[in-house]
Amino acid sequence: MAEKPTYDELVKKIEQLEKKCAEYATVDDQCHRAKSVYRTFFENSGAATIIIEDDGIISFANKQFEKLFAATKNDIEGKLKWRDIVHEDDFEFIRHYHILRRIDPQAAPENYEFRMLNKLKEMKYIVNTESLIPETQKIIASLIDLTERKMAEQSLNESEAKYRALFESASDTIVLLDRQRMIDCNQKTLEMFRCTREQLLASKKETFWPEFQPDGRRTSDIIEKYFQSALNGNTTTFEIQRLRYDGSVFDAETTYTVITLSGKKYLQAIIRDITERKATEIALKEGEAKYRTLFESAIDTIILIDNETIVDCNLAALKMFGASREQLVGQKTWTFMPKFQLDGLPSKETGKEKTRQAIKGEILFLEWRFLRCNGSEFDAELTFNTIDLKGKKYFQAIIRDITERKQAAEQMKKLTQELKRSNTDLAQFAYVASHDLQEPLRMVTSFVQLLQRRYQGKLDKDADEFISYAVAGASQMQKLINDLLKYSRVDTHGENMEPTDCNTVVTHALSNLNKAIEEAKAVVNIDHLPTIQADYTQLVQLFQNLISNAIKYHGEKQPEVLIRATDKGEYWLFSVRDNGIGIKNEYFGKIFVIFQRLHNKDQYPGTGIGLSICKKIVERHNGRIWVESKPGVGSTFYFTIPK
Ligand code: ADP
Repeated sequence: MAEKPTYDELVKKIEQLEKKCAEYATVDDQCHRAKSVYRTFFENSGAATIIIEDDGIISFANKQFEKLFAATKNDIEGKLKWRDIVHEDDFEFIRHYHILRRIDPQAAPENYEFRMLNKLKEMKYIVNTESLIPETQKIIASLIDLTERKMAEQSLNESEAKYRALFESASDTIVLLDRQRMIDCNQKTLEMFRCTREQLLASKKETFWPEFQPDGRRTSDIIEKYFQSALNGNTTTFEIQRLRYDGSVFDAETTYTVITLSGKKYLQAIIRDITERKATEIALKEGEAKYRTLFESAIDTIILIDNETIVDCNLAALKMFGASREQLVGQKTWTFMPKFQLDGLPSKETGKEKTRQAIKGEILFLEWRFLRCNGSEFDAELTFNTIDLKGKKYFQAIIRDITERKQAAEQMKKLTQELKRSNTDLAQFAYVASHDLQEPLRMVTSFVQLLQRRYQGKLDKDADEFISYAVAGASQMQKLINDLLKYSRVDTHGENMEPTDCNTVVTHALSNLNKAIEEAKAVVNIDHLPTIQADYTQLVQLFQNLISNAIKYHGEKQPEVLIRATDKGEYWLFSVRDNGIGIKNEYFGKIFVIFQRLHNKDQYPGTGIGLSICKKIVERHNGRIWVESKPGVGSTFYFTIPK
């Protein structure tokens, strides 16, 4: 049995225990303080930090994590599993990471990236650093949010991808360069410079431009100037001549811009072949120069108008309006017009209406009254239209003074009226004269015939001869007067135009010529003829004259006449052909003139009026008459009658 401790021993023991207690209290206190330090550190760490138990439950989460996960500690600690916060596509990858760490902790990277889905289902890009808390199965994970950086990176990547796509598909040439050489180019560049990518990138930049420009400037000086300006942050565009790889020259427009790709600065050159544009510009300039020459040298007045204001005019305009350039240019157009036009319409309003028409692209031809500077008015012919000059639309007024022409037309009208009147007088006179002459002539004729009958052979030989001359003369005069009467009657005694069957007309004419036909043993052939709008009696006269001539002017051969008509669409073409003596070319016109004959009346009787009557009749029917003939072969008389 153990001995009971002594009092001293007990006191000592108690003292020892008290000492131990004090020691423990210090350690406990230190522990407490350490815990609180760690807790503060844990809470206020810049990174979102959690402690994961070995069953995956998150037992602690700091403020940063609360913020990152968008939830309070209450919703996280002890409730959320580590798996719950990981994007499902990243499970596999994290599992592999842990396996690797277990097998070879040195080989496993210190941290890894994964995607987290927070309570608001927002995706967060996280870099996670994990460590095992010693002597436990707990893990302390420190999570850093990379989302913003990731997003920026992504959008950079996207915009670079977009740039690349644009670069390759651009219809313009795009080249990336630095001061020395070209670094990259798109397909279009190779087409433009006619070389391969290797050739282009291996060449000096100078290969692609001539040393000097047409204006004498050194190309590299120009390029350097714009290059520098672009480097200073300006977007610069300039035009120069460039060279293709094969040495051929072309006009190009270049735009330099500085761009940043993957954080590096490049100079981007967009080069455009402007050969066609230049050619158009030159053509346009030439066209404008031509217009200017034409404008200045034109006899007609040319005025350019913009917004109802005269903006330019030529010399002819100054002369026409009796004004100086200053008096015309800058003025409103209606300053040079009387208040009202010829037709009584107000100049200003009508002018505005015409302008609207011209805007639609119409070219207007007008008669317009203008006002000179001295207040006198004149009539003009005005051509009004729009034209493009230096890329701008103007109205162009071409003005021609027609005062003289109008006066001449007026005079012509008067003269024609006078001529008409004197023609009518003349026709009337011829008619009256021939008509009134008939009576005394008939008297003369019948008395000389009486003389002949009574005294033929009773007086001497000379008397017989004289009387027979008087008889012949009187009868020729009778024929002449008869024909003259017929001639003057064509216009004065014409009848209405009516549907007329030409077959009936020709039959009628032939029956009038029956005797002559029989005597000459003439053969007359007629094609089928049309029905036309005509004066029946005059048409009979027309055919009768032509057929009788065809028989009268026959040669050795038996006379043959052919009458036909051809449909020419708008008119009928009639022809009367014979196989007679024919007419020389030089008389083709003369024979239609009144009293013009090619033979004396002993050879062929006649008055020289027949064909002029024909001409008059055809003209009254608005047609034409002419002859085609060969001496010794025959003649064909043609005439037309409109439908
Ligand atoms: P006329 O027969 O009375 O002389 P015309 O006016 O009928 O008058 O003819 C004028 C002239 O034209 C004739 O004198 C004749 O010389 C010529 N002529 C007319 N018809 C024919 C014809 N068919 N063949 C040849 N000559 C013709």
